[in-house]
Amino acid sequence: MSTAVRNLGPATALTCRECGESYDLGPHYACEQCFGPLEVSYDYSQVSRERIESGPRNIWRYRDLLPVPAGVIETPNTEPGFTRLVRADNLAESLGVRSLWVKDDSGNPTHSFKDRVVAVALAAARELGFKVLACPSTGNLANAVAAAAARAGIRSAVFVPSDLEQQKIVTTAVYGGTFVTVDGNYDDVNRLASEIAGEQDDWAFVNVNVRPYYAEGSKTIGYEVAEQLGWRLPDQIVVPIASGSQLTKIDKAFQELIKLGLVEDKPYKVFGAQATGCSPVAAAFKAGHDAVRPVKPDTIAKSLAIGNPADGPYVLDAVRRTGGAIEDVSDEEVVDSIGLLARTEGIFGETAGGVTLGSLRKLLSSGVLDPGAETVFINSGDGLKTLDAVAPVAKPSANIAPSFDAFRKAGLV
Ligand SMILES: *Cc1c(COP(=O)(O)O)cnc(C)c1O
Repeated sequence: MSTAVRNLGPATALTCRECGESYDLGPHYACEQCFGPLEVSYDYSQVSRERIESGPRNIWRYRDLLPVPAGVIETPNTEPGFTRLVRADNLAESLGVRSLWVKDDSGNPTHSFKDRVVAVALAAARELGFKVLACPSTGNLANAVAAAAARAGIRSAVFVPSDLEQQKIVTTAVYGGTFVTVDGNYDDVNRLASEIAGEQDDWAFVNVNVRPYYAEGSKTIGYEVAEQLGWRLPDQIVVPIASGSQLTKIDKAFQELIKLGLVEDKPYKVFGAQATGCSPVAAAFKAGHDAVRPVKPDTIAKSLAIGNPADGPYVLDAVRRTGGAIEDVSDEEVVDSIGLLARTEGIFGETAGGVTLGSLRKLLSSGVLDPGAETVFINSGDGLKTLDAVAPVAKPSANIAPSFDAFRKAGLV
């Protein structure tokens, strides 16, 4: 591919997270010196509250903080973001918490937070000269890539484990594009994607060879939480962990906002959430280890089922630095928390939301999370995509003949 000068807005370079080596913006994702992951660096001189607030009500209002061309607003894209921050008073009361908010990312175009990262990856990938938008996925990313590519009028190529939820198969296939199910788990699919990326050099695997750009999209959750709270940071935030990217980028967003003076500099704690059946980062945290030992996932929370999380060590850094913690919950606790969120706040979260609320509850009862501090947790996806998880417990109250007598006999009045 060409090595022409890139116009990626405020982005200035790629910097190795391990050794600090710096690279020109381009289709690079690993350091040539030490193989460490690359991170986007910026010129923040354009950033101001006024410019953000006068922008569109989607992630592009933060384009001065993202590696995308200035013209991104005019190019066809799914326009994700600016999802609701819901004040969860009923849930707070039932948990005995003073102030609780749900960042409800099920409101994105394909009903999960993945639309954010894909929109940023697509904008960068086009500028870098890629022709195909691709990914290995646990489901939500597949939806987001297929939809974004359709809207942009380019080809998509999506690879998923063949045992994925039927809902996520259908909601990917419907957008057209190349869609391959693979007999293996996510980590197998991910390895295959890296192999294909090595052969097809005009394919942008959003979470592999354009990962440094993709990952920056998750910062927008952090910016939105701060802006929606009236330009201030919460005391505590609870975030689900799959690869760990979302958690580290919410932390990066909060740090940027502090550094830029857009919010008051105050301490905040970042907490991580995993399903016990795939909890390599929680296990490392609890054992006091710096390295994350890969596991074979076995949980209903398939969107979080990454056994070898790329950003695991950086999650541990962020959580320990801020004084947070990482918890994990059983599949039963996941289902129970999906129900609690639905009954108290009218929000139907997917299994990842159940993992996050379940972990929040466990951190509360163990005294790690402060019930008196302002807390935000992320519902990162829509329950309609993981119906099987709750179908056994979410049933009608009764089935009756169409008569008042039958209704009375059902004992519901
Ligand atoms: C992908 C995903 C996450 C977490 O992603 P990271 O890889 O940790 O950034 C959380 N929730 C849902 C619903 C997801 O699809």
